[in-house]
Amino acid sequence: MTTTPLPTLAVWKFASCDGCQLTLLNCEDELMALAGQVQIAYFPEATRAVIEGPYDVSLVEGSVTSPDEIERIGHIREISKHVVTIGACATSGGIQALRNFGDVAEFRSVVYAHPEYLSTLARSTPISAHVSVDFELRGCPIDKGQLLEVLSAYIQRRRPRIPTYSVCVECKRRGAICVAVAHGTPCLGPVTQAGCGALCPAYSRGCYGCFGPQDTPNTSALADRLLAMGMAQDEVMRIYRTFNAASEPFRRESERHEPAVTQEVGS
Ligand code: SF4
Ligand code: SF4
Repeated sequence: MTTTPLPTLAVWKFASCDGCQLTLLNCEDELMALAGQVQIAYFPEATRAVIEGPYDVSLVEGSVTSPDEIERIGHIREISKHVVTIGACATSGGIQALRNFGDVAEFRSVVYAHPEYLSTLARSTPISAHVSVDFELRGCPIDKGQLLEVLSAYIQRRRPRIPTYSVCVECKRRGAICVAVAHGTPCLGPVTQAGCGALCPAYSRGCYGCFGPQDTPNTSALADRLLAMGMAQDEVMRIYRTFNAASEPFRRESERHEPAVTQEVGS
């Protein structure tokens, strides 16, 4: 009797905190079912066993921050049928992309005793800046349910069903009171992609955008509203400069609110 080989899964790490890989390990009950559907071929965080590529699905965590990583992601693309990037680091450059607004040479000289031993790029970039990507899964960290949906979709050879609308829709569905309207709390929910189930507003906190921009984010209208609520220009700049600071809509909006002196340094 012949059996069809299981699709192979590889999990790769670039500059990141490993939190998104941990989300995969935290799938607990679902992980066993998943292990029956795919062959985990390369996943150094979980197993020492390595099955040589090519691979059917590569999950890529982390951003590209050093010259050797540019070569490595090129190789991963060559040996992977599908590349799925997971998390804010991989999809927008992550927290480490805050360097894109400053002078890396200056940071290096302040932080490291011997910066000459470091080989780092001036910018932290998402994986899609270097190779073609089949699907980008947002979040810092990613949502477990969304990850399982994406993996199931690739195993079943269908398009993942991941919403691109805003966190506000999730608030309405959950019956969460709008923290901005009811309490005047600054909230990035209107411009942030759904995925967390409106976690923060459900606990009376504003959203700080960890799932990155939704598909049609009106960042300037929200910034005007935040200013009208009493936020200072530099606070508006900072609220857009967190996990997804280098995503195009958040980057542009944050730059609109840069103090003049910062603009000179960052330009
Ligand atoms: S997206 Fe967030 S949780 Fe995931 S690796 Fe990057 S910093 Fe860690
Ligand atoms: S910050 Fe926003 S996107 Fe992140 S968990 Fe909270 S509500 Fe969700």
